[in-house]
Amino acid sequence: MDFEAARANLIKHLSVEIEDEKVLAAMSHIPRELFIPQDEIHLAYEDRPLPIGFGQTISQPFIIALMTASLELTGEEKVLEVGTGSGYQAAILAELAKVVITVERMSALAVAANEVLSKLGYKNIKIHIAEHMLGWQLEAPYDAIIVTAGAPKIPEILVKQLKTGGRMVIPVGSRYDQDLYKIIKQKKENIVYNLGGCRFVPLIGEDAWMEEE
Ligand code: SAH
Repeated sequence: MDFEAARANLIKHLSVEIEDEKVLAAMSHIPRELFIPQDEIHLAYEDRPLPIGFGQTISQPFIIALMTASLELTGEEKVLEVGTGSGYQAAILAELAKVVITVERMSALAVAANEVLSKLGYKNIKIHIAEHMLGWQLEAPYDAIIVTAGAPKIPEILVKQLKTGGRMVIPVGSRYDQDLYKIIKQKKENIVYNLGGCRFVPLIGEDAWMEEE
């Protein structure tokens, strides 16, 4: 399979709605096929989410591009990702920000993501196994936070880890479908935009969903 051609096609398709050239440029050279199970690589450049094992998924490229663009990265930021999964989103962030801190609650996924990101040579990504508290307090505050799992509400504990003026993008809704929210933290009332419908696996933890239901 010609991954280069498939990737170029996907970027062309995304560029109809995604205007952020830097996001498209990053996605146009990151090999998504390395972040998914071997038996799915023929689907690597379809604009759809794919299973990555353990009941988790790598997000749809369009949603990834939309979320990344909404963070308004310039290259100087410290970004937190909640939900490392395959590591693909972290690679995109690493191209567009200074440092990426990413947390994952499933250690097998964190280990696999670390392996592929190291192989690709990323030096500005730190992967941590998630702790009881959502996010990663130790390196807060962040210029931007991206949550790649769906929450029942905007978790206050994550807003606390954001700088004033910082952007957070997070799916909020039921366990099965959500709306994508962009929050800009303000000293007083935060600004919240609804970027539209989406579907993510649940964000698990205190301030989010219980593991089983
Ligand atoms: N960004 C990923 C997709 C992640 S899927 C990618 O590019 O592939 C969502 C991930 O969030 C899953 O791997 C799930 O295990 C993880 N997750 C769920 N709740 C979490 C929490 N509280 N902290 C960290 N990771 C969490």
